[in-house]
Amino acid sequence: MKHIFKNLFLAFLIFLCLSAIFSLFNTPKKTNSWISLGQLVEQINQEKVEKIIIRGDHLEVRLKNGEIKNAQKEPELALTESLKNYGLSSEKLRKIEIEVKEEGNFLFWLGAVLPFLLPSLFVLLLFWFMFKGAQKGQMQAFSFIRSKARLITPTNQKERVTFKDVAGLKEAKEELKEIIDFLKNPQKFINIGARIPKGVLLMGPPGTGKTLLARAVAGEAKVPFFNISGSEFIELFVGVGASRVRDLFRVAKKSAPCIVFIDEIDAIGRQRGFGFGGGHEEREQTLNQILVEMDGFEPNTNVIVMAATNRPDVLDPALLRPGRFDRRIILDEPDIKDREEILKIHTRNKKLAKNVDLREIAERTPGFSGADLANLVNEAALLAARRDKKEIEQTEFRDSIEKVLLGPERKSRILSKKEKEIAAYHEAGHALVNVVLPHTDPVHKISIISRGKAAGYTLKLPVEDKHFRTKSEFLDELAVLLGGYTAEEIVFKDITTGAANDLNYASHLARKLVTQYGMSKKIGPVVFGERGRLLWGQDVIAEKRYSEKIAAEIDEEVLRLIKEAHREARRIILQKRDLLDKIAQRLIKKETIERKEFERLVKQGLGDKIAKKKK
Ligand code: ADP
Ligand code: MG
Ligand code: ZN
Repeated sequence: MKHIFKNLFLAFLIFLCLSAIFSLFNTPKKTNSWISLGQLVEQINQEKVEKIIIRGDHLEVRLKNGEIKNAQKEPELALTESLKNYGLSSEKLRKIEIEVKEEGNFLFWLGAVLPFLLPSLFVLLLFWFMFKGAQKGQMQAFSFIRSKARLITPTNQKERVTFKDVAGLKEAKEELKEIIDFLKNPQKFINIGARIPKGVLLMGPPGTGKTLLARAVAGEAKVPFFNISGSEFIELFVGVGASRVRDLFRVAKKSAPCIVFIDEIDAIGRQRGFGFGGGHEEREQTLNQILVEMDGFEPNTNVIVMAATNRPDVLDPALLRPGRFDRRIILDEPDIKDREEILKIHTRNKKLAKNVDLREIAERTPGFSGADLANLVNEAALLAARRDKKEIEQTEFRDSIEKVLLGPERKSRILSKKEKEIAAYHEAGHALVNVVLPHTDPVHKISIISRGKAAGYTLKLPVEDKHFRTKSEFLDELAVLLGGYTAEEIVFKDITTGAANDLNYASHLARKLVTQYGMSKKIGPVVFGERGRLLWGQDVIAEKRYSEKIAAEIDEEVLRLIKEAHREARRIILQKRDLLDKIAQRLIKKETIERKEFERLVKQGLGDKIAKKKK
């Protein structure tokens, strides 16, 4: 877009110059003076005029004394006629010489043609510049007029990504190898009569590397990569989306073999009539156009359409029919080994101190996505720079984990003395219940420095990635969740709103145990409410499909679980009140307690009996 403006400006400059030159030439030479026809007649009457030269409507009047005057003839009337009209007698007229010169001298023509010529010249110039621009970057003109797709050409070394830049995701890479093979060597597949998938759908939670992987496929196959986001199709004007799709595919077919990547396809590919603003005309048209284009591919069109989404549950089933996005690839969140590899990739060009142990960082970051880890590395580098270090050390990585996890520290929010005390006892309550109960994750850190929304937090991290969780773990978790609330209740004989979050979470968890995990003996192994189709971490619709009687029983069970957890937390805190005080006092003084210090405190307070039980 920038160079278009530059060209426009250039063309305008040229236009200015031309018109300046033109007006310079056009002004008659020796413009001593202009005289009117009346004055001319007067001069003739006084017999001062020797000769008149007519050029079109312009009169050059030569006087006997050698002067030259200019005059303008009435258009479409012979000069003699005009002069007679001004009352000149024929005899006087006969005495002067009148010469008619060819109109068609250069300047005259220029004057006549230029008003038409200049604008068309201007337009021509504009086209010429655009054409030149288009040649330079093939698709640049295309992106100016048409779809907003960005293109990464295989020759673009800076933007090129290959499988080496993508850590983990083994299965996904394996499946995509076939696509790469096809793009590189289509004839092999066509000869054998194999039908090549037209569409590949990448599904996975945000930040797991869908966009990255799609680019890597193009990089591996060394083909052009057209990248557009679903939301970019949709604009103010109805019909724009569909025409953008048409343009995109037209250009793509010309540059085949290539990959067209539609990111966040759920923006247009939502199930019709699903969710908010369902049945959106524009979106539907755009989606239909994509389907039409994909259906219209001839079998040997080497265009592979890739798309990415983190909401496969809302996709229109039409997209998933055979011949469309029939190849579906799921990207999982990275496990510990993948996390270490991702960290390695992103620390490649960073200066690391010798003491850096990426394995430990990977251990401490379960649940982090690839994007989170990339962010973590960057935060660590920033932190090291701010601390005036030449290299990034392990502490920077450690400190950045919490920042990525919980949002920036807010030291500015100052708690009053009383608030601080309450926060300290609240967190100490969580931590104490956690350490006494056997089926819990170790406490990594307790803090009453507010982060994000929370006033304080107790950070627990699992020792290893977990795929299953047990009922006893959940029951202990409920008690830990209520630990903060219970501590406040016991110590201050009063309860603050600070516990609202915990209670909310606990109630949800308890309800899930009863209605989804079949972990309540009384209700039994039945699932109530359909869980939305696969979705990471959240349920879409929990439809109520049970009687009022069952509903009452479920509520009763949930209440019982919560009450039991409360009782358990109460028992622990009352029994270990002195340890609670110790933890809380330490927190008030230091604001944060790290794992090692916490374990030391606990060992003194609990003695070996419970400490052993924990192992
Ligand atoms: P998504 O499209 O799934 O939301 P992206 O592909 O945009 O995620 O990933 C965001 C960033 O996270 C990438 O640019 C990359 O730096 C990093 N990242 C994510 N997954 C990986 C991975 N498997 N290996 C290396 N880097 C990754
Ligand atoms: Mg993405
Ligand atoms: Zn809490």
